[in-house]
Amino acid sequence: MLCLSLFLVFFLDSLKKIASEISSCKKCALHYKRNKTVPGEGPPNANIFFIGEAPGRDEDETGKPFIGRAGKLLTKALEKAGIDRKKVFITSIAKCRPPKNRKPRKKEAGSCMPYLLRQIGCVSPEVIVLLGNSAAHAFLKKTGVAELRGNFFSAGGKNFFVTFHPAACLYNSSLMPLLVNDLKKLKKFA
Ligand code: URA
Repeated sequence: MLCLSLFLVFFLDSLKKIASEISSCKKCALHYKRNKTVPGEGPPNANIFFIGEAPGRDEDETGKPFIGRAGKLLTKALEKAGIDRKKVFITSIAKCRPPKNRKPRKKEAGSCMPYLLRQIGCVSPEVIVLLGNSAAHAFLKKTGVAELRGNFFSAGGKNFFVTFHPAACLYNSSLMPLLVNDLKKLKKFA
């Protein structure tokens, strides 16, 4: 039991350390306009690790990932797929909000990548879920989420799964059942 506690404390501390480094990060220009950094959240032993694109306004105000309109859809899709949001780790490629919610630039995504890789290392999830093209491109060097979605990929010794970014469902509600169906394939890891 003591060993287990020490093990958990080590990983908690490590995720906390990464979050603390992110909070003072000035590696790219996004830090000038941010209110809060959004390192991500979830249990340190989560089996499923979600990666989105970048924080929006609500996330920038609160420091919490996926709590705005797209986040609410993600929560709903997870519920419908029978996955408890509290049991998964959720973060994004960029940890600071890009102006006008544009996609993170190469330099911005590249600046955050070491934090993201360390977070993945700490959590050591069974599957990493790439939400949308920015995340798919960052890890698989592939885009075209409509074709990639619903499939598992192996890269760098890790197990990836691609699906839509929930924001896509805001603009096209017919994608929501497809997102839910994709997420159902992850239930076995939950
Ligand atoms: N979209 C993302 O990709 N990440 C967030 O945290 C919120 C919206």
